[in-house]
Amino acid sequence: MAMYNKKTIEDVAVEGKRVLVRCDFNVPQKDGKITSDKRIVEALPTIRYLKDHGAKVILCSHMGKPKGEVNPKYSLCAVAARLTELLGMPVPLCADICGPDAKAKVAAMKNGDVILLENTRFDKREEKNDPEFAKELASLADLYVNDAFGAAHRAHASTAGVAAYLPSVCGYLIQKEISVMGKALADPTRPFVAILGGAKVSDKLNVIENLLSKVDTLIIGGGMAYTFLAAKGYGVGTSLLDKEKIDYCKDMMAKAEKNGVKLLLPVDTTVADAFPDPIDAPIEVSYVDSENIPADKMGLDIGPKTAKLFSDAIMQAKTVVWNGPMGVFENPTLAKGTIAVAQALAASSAITIVGGGDSAAACEQLGFADKLTHISTGGGASLEFLEGRELPGIACLADR
Ligand code: ADP
Ligand code: MG
Repeated sequence: MAMYNKKTIEDVAVEGKRVLVRCDFNVPQKDGKITSDKRIVEALPTIRYLKDHGAKVILCSHMGKPKGEVNPKYSLCAVAARLTELLGMPVPLCADICGPDAKAKVAAMKNGDVILLENTRFDKREEKNDPEFAKELASLADLYVNDAFGAAHRAHASTAGVAAYLPSVCGYLIQKEISVMGKALADPTRPFVAILGGAKVSDKLNVIENLLSKVDTLIIGGGMAYTFLAAKGYGVGTSLLDKEKIDYCKDMMAKAEKNGVKLLLPVDTTVADAFPDPIDAPIEVSYVDSENIPADKMGLDIGPKTAKLFSDAIMQAKTVVWNGPMGVFENPTLAKGTIAVAQALAASSAITIVGGGDSAAACEQLGFADKLTHISTGGGASLEFLEGRELPGIACLADR
């Protein structure tokens, strides 16, 4: 995979320019109230830089899945209000995306002003990456800045198409993703250890394959580990098992051996009678070695010996990439493996990178976030990055 080396907002003149900034303001909301403004806060450095350097800052984003229709439920109005608070200046929301209201508001902007366009997915041409729509969006501005890493794996009009009509650079968020994650994958400081977990092997097939050509050690935990254990010939009880992927796991074990990659699987596992319902309900567990999982038990977390094995491997690394929890971390009794891995990452002096929505959430919830080098801001996008795929929202930006 080629390493991206893209121009950033600091590489271009922005004063007096109308700058269209694609952000990821797809924040969780309940009853019209934002429940986490993390994505808005993360976008502030790019917005502040542009505003402080005299640009006319035109923000845009999608929100939810309005399916190409105007639907007040998916309006960015709460985002505009939050931006107004955070920036301490009015951030008016346009009534449309690039229609008469947006055009009028842009025309009235002064240097340093900030406005927000309405949800880009209110127009069905957005997700089709329609060139006419991209051109209309581009006509509002002189420069395009993409800072929506979370949407960079999608080729939509506002995430990629618009770059065909404007000079295009990345903001600080995308820049950090490509410099930290891009370097880790293209030119890692070794030993390079990757940890994969989560529910399903099939979700991460390409990631496993790609990482096996890059890492020194690949650690597999979480629900996906049981298909590997089955591939080793072990019984896995009622644990998650992807029968169709057993042969694939055998291939991956062979590939690891061929590439000289150390593949670490759980040596013991935390089992219970059934999946907790509700997910955080109290649960009685026991620990068994991986080759002795009883037929009527379900593996829901790595066991204590495995937590130690994985932590030791992490402590020896110089670069660590982690995607996917080690167990059903939503339940405190089944979060121990995930906590142990998070603790090892936090204690390590290596470059530590966490990608994946649930693993990132686990690190935040457990309070380890500020001890890590980088928590990716995009679940799907960071997974495609780890797969070695080209991200359209980054590929479209100008090279340095
Ligand atoms: P990420 O979002 O970090 O990429 P995934 O979405 O792949 O992670 O997986 C997260 C989910 O995997 C969590 O909801 C967790 O409860 C589940 N999980 C982890 N281990 C197990 C297991 N042993 N059995 C069932 N589910 C599991
Ligand atoms: Mg997930």
